[in-house]
Amino acid sequence: MNKQNHPFWQIIHTITDFPKAGIDFYDISPLLYGHVTQLVDELLAALPDGFLDTVGAFATTEARGFVIGSLLAGRTGKPLILIRKAGKLPPPVFSENYTLEYGTDTLQIKANLPKTNVLLVDDVLATGGTLIASKRLCEQAGHGVLGALVLLDLLALHGDIGMPTYSVMTT
Ligand code: AMP
Repeated sequence: MNKQNHPFWQIIHTITDFPKAGIDFYDISPLLYGHVTQLVDELLAALPDGFLDTVGAFATTEARGFVIGSLLAGRTGKPLILIRKAGKLPPPVFSENYTLEYGTDTLQIKANLPKTNVLLVDDVLATGGTLIASKRLCEQAGHGVLGALVLLDLLALHGDIGMPTYSVMTT
């Protein structure tokens, strides 16, 4: 299916100048209202044949990533690893600082989960900062990182993010 002309483009909402001037915000809320089964079907179809068999767990960041990750874990029966903003997960945790457009932030992951090969998942890939920090965090925790699966890849906003990326939609 053509990712730039995917039928989901008729469902998601694009809001210009949100949360600030110059940003096009891609709102997946309408996809979650009546299209959940199709959303999961399309995410899984974006992976190469046999890839899912190599995935030990899905790892994802709050907040919309948690929704995508939960749906994938629920469908496949695979574990879900939550990556959270600093101070939300009880110890022991590993931490990773990353750069945002303004300033820095910190993500954390539980340090005592069984080590496995993870697929990072999120709704939107923009600059790639979140996925790159998540990859470093997973590696700190001893997990292998197979790549990233997103609903929407904003190709113009990032270069090589250092891992295979799979997407349902691109622009
Ligand atoms: P980045 O770290 O720049 O790749 O940003 C990815 C994270 O920010 C994802 O968790 C997205 O949910 C969110 N995000 C970034 N840009 C957008 C956008 N234009 N529309 C919707 N969500 C976005």
